Amino acid sequence: MSNNKTQSFLASVNQNFDKAAGFTDIPKGILEQIKVCNAVYEIKFPVRIGDQIEVINAFRAQHSHHRLPTKGGIRYNEHVDKEEVEALAALMTYKCAIVDVPFGGAKGGVKINPRIYTEEQLERITRRYTTELIRKNFIGPGIDVPAPDYGTGPREMAWIYDTYLTFKVGDIDAAGCVTGKPINQNGIRGRNEATGRGVFYGLRELCDTEDAMKKVGLSKGLQGKKVVIQGLGNVGSFTGNIMQDEGDIRIIGVSEYEGAIYSENGINFSELLKYRSQNNGSIIGFPGSQTLPSREAALELDCDILIPAALENQITIANAAQIKAKIIGEAANGPVSAEAEEILLKKGALIVPDMYLNAGGVTVSYFEWLKNLSHMRFGRMEKRFDSNTYSNFVGLIEKLTSKSIGEREREFLTRGADEIDLVRSGLEETMVTSFQQIWETYQKNSKIDGLRSAAFVAALEKISNDYANLGIFP
Ligand code: NAD
Repeated sequence: MSNNKTQSFLASVNQNFDKAAGFTDIPKGILEQIKVCNAVYEIKFPVRIGDQIEVINAFRAQHSHHRLPTKGGIRYNEHVDKEEVEALAALMTYKCAIVDVPFGGAKGGVKINPRIYTEEQLERITRRYTTELIRKNFIGPGIDVPAPDYGTGPREMAWIYDTYLTFKVGDIDAAGCVTGKPINQNGIRGRNEATGRGVFYGLRELCDTEDAMKKVGLSKGLQGKKVVIQGLGNVGSFTGNIMQDEGDIRIIGVSEYEGAIYSENGINFSELLKYRSQNNGSIIGFPGSQTLPSREAALELDCDILIPAALENQITIANAAQIKAKIIGEAANGPVSAEAEEILLKKGALIVPDMYLNAGGVTVSYFEWLKNLSHMRFGRMEKRFDSNTYSNFVGLIEKLTSKSIGEREREFLTRGADEIDLVRSGLEETMVTSFQQIWETYQKNSKIDGLRSAAFVAALEKISNDYANLGIFP
């Protein structure tokens, strides 16, 4: 899927890799091993659609086996091809390293337009694809663990889990074969929102960094920032809702498949999502908004933060010069081509790279996998114990001060953490710590011209350390 005629997504990822590798002293052979895709499985399988038989083309790429299992989403899109899946799998390797998730990178793709199939047909395609992965040992809790991506969600993950279970009767860890499952199917609270919530934490950290805001001439803090969002799927919708509710931003533009809208006064994002679901899936005509001439026009609006949350190659050499945003938060994978990045960096923009900013999904997928292997909900053991301990503290304070604490404060102070609290806290800690690592790398070396190279350098150093410790077999 590319508007950019001159550079493919994979070429872009590799160009970014090469540029960042130049800032390290990692030996050439190790760099080469980190860069290449370790294994790709391409499958063609038949599925009965109505009274026809359709041959479906699908892929699973395992980019790096330096840590196992490998991990990465499964994409359903008619433009999927081998190169795209390889590029996405490579990003997963770097992403996992940046947020210290102990997996290698992988990605799956099924070359279909999911909008034209019924639910039953999609289930058949998903189950057959999973069966093919099982046959070649390309899925399993210790081998390769898929998750949702563009065009897939918890429903598809439940079908994958059930198919795996059908073939692996008695595998006690079977639930860990896929993440992003519905909560009642061994999923975890907070996975659905995780990528969007991570985007919020990442951008909040950037905007709270004084030097970063000075660089782009903006005031410190997320509050009041003018934001444009492209894509209202899983990532875009949670990003918008959480940023508006918890970050107090002003969303002035939104772009979706059907077109784009604009309002200088700000768009009530949750109302817009409601409007779209009641308006035949269209944002056009949202009260108080103006329709833009094209969906691409939203990307060129004068805003503080532009958040592409749809697909790769949305900002290319064709439109980079017209982009006015001072910060580009890559919620999608690969939305800015490497060539376009050079133009944007020269204009002084800060690009918060995909391999960091959308890593909330894989971080909470890691928590889900851990939950599946431990066979227990987070918080179950300690919630009551913590709550009783806090109650005793409150009682003691009341006794010592001879003052009583109000009911609401008492409830707040004595609450033990639920699973969702722990997941959000773990995600926030991950995004904050990783941002600091990237920012430090960026500050340390004046030759590093952007946050993407800084993130790459941080990732490459961690992965090369792994190789140095593992040695090369035989
Ligand atoms: P999704 O299928 O839920 O939603 C994507 C949305 O983008 C759809 O509503 C689609 O109509 C819209 N869209 C497509 N082309 C568009 C265009 N040209 N202009 C405007 N809107 C357009 O997908 P998602 O899961 O939200 O994934 C979006 C991006 O985020 C992808 O790049 C994906 O790889 C990345 N990502 C997803 C996750 C995750 O947890 N789902 C995690 C990390 C990264």
